Amino acid sequence: MQTRNETPEIGFQDLGLNERTLKALKQAKFESPSPIQAAFLPHALKGRDCTGQARTGTGKTAAFVIPILEQIDLEDSKTQALVLAPTRELSEQVAEEAKRLAYTSTCRTACLVGGRPIRKQIDDLKKGVQVAIGTPGRVIDLINRRMLDLRNLKIVVLDEADRMLDIGFRPDIEKILRRCPKERQTLLLSATMPPPVERLAKRYMQDPTRVDLSEDGVMVDSVEQFYVTVDADRKFGLLTRLLRAERPQQALVFTRTKRGADTLYRRFAGRLPHVAHLHGDLPQPKRDSTMKKFRAGKIRLLIATDVVGRGIDVSGISHIVNYDIPEYCDDYVHRVGRTGRLSSDDRGRAFTFVTREQGNELTNIEIRINSQLTEYRVDDYEAFRPAPAPKHVEPKKKPEIPEFSFAS
Ligand code: AMP
Repeated sequence: MQTRNETPEIGFQDLGLNERTLKALKQAKFESPSPIQAAFLPHALKGRDCTGQARTGTGKTAAFVIPILEQIDLEDSKTQALVLAPTRELSEQVAEEAKRLAYTSTCRTACLVGGRPIRKQIDDLKKGVQVAIGTPGRVIDLINRRMLDLRNLKIVVLDEADRMLDIGFRPDIEKILRRCPKERQTLLLSATMPPPVERLAKRYMQDPTRVDLSEDGVMVDSVEQFYVTVDADRKFGLLTRLLRAERPQQALVFTRTKRGADTLYRRFAGRLPHVAHLHGDLPQPKRDSTMKKFRAGKIRLLIATDVVGRGIDVSGISHIVNYDIPEYCDDYVHRVGRTGRLSSDDRGRAFTFVTREQGNELTNIEIRINSQLTEYRVDDYEAFRPAPAPKHVEPKKKPEIPEFSFAS
């Protein structure tokens, strides 16, 4: 893991930032730029369009929040910056980081996400919001209601662009970008750069500077990664033994589906304290209170699906468990990126449960991260039964061919 004292020589004071931002950074205890910040900020601060390949946990939020804060005119109450993010949780995290780094200024931000009362967001917008952060659906809604005016935007950020496209936000994003002024800066952050993201960048950005700090190598260093072979019906038994053996500070357990998360949660509920689950079908207030408790360390085991689990920035997460192996290799990178955080000195540990039939999926992940996972066994627990020995079957005799001869 890159830590603060391993970051490149460049310091925040070398970037020509204004005093206000430097003060806020000091207040936030950011001593020197993280690698993504050191690589991204010099270009972004010049007003260039930039793409940055970096996962959450590397300091990517500040890499775009700082250029926003440097550019906006505090005397002007119009909306000058827009950040689009895939989930409500991530939008709120970005808004918090923006507030933290705008600490000494009067910059006004609003978080425009679904599942929250639109009335309050409209009231905020009416009062004047310089930095709008939100999910594409709600942002479109507010544009359609003529509450959010994009005409004065100077800077647009697409955060976690790969995930936004994965969950089907492409049409909304394009609609929004088409309404933004042509003369603007566009920053795009993404953990991965698959072709759909490349196409989006090509279409809506001007000759972007590409900063590739994809963290595969870093991730491997900062997180110890294991796989455990398990029968599908023994996963729960394995998980409970694993928790007992590992005694995590905080663990995030991923399931593939919302129903899977519900079922797993029900098996723990009432039997183990400090357990919760999080997925997109749960009511927003419930999701909020769960996140709050998880951040505060009151929830120790959180069972989540990919969409909501992604982007969770909680420094106490010591363990990731892929109870279900992720469907896409990139999701593996995102899930495992929840531990081994920038601010944490301990190496995180990630465990992936693999059934016998999922060997190929494990191999694909290993190819993706260019590293092999270590096999892990829990003592005293037979996570999988040996395959039954094949029944003895008499080798089939070749049918006899009656003697014959070809016509002469
Ligand atoms: P992010 O990747 O933006 O989710 O950031 C991960 C965590 O690192 C957040 O808690 C940030 O506040 C923190 N962070 C970001 N940049 C720095 C920095 N330069 N020094 C110390 N902590 C940082």
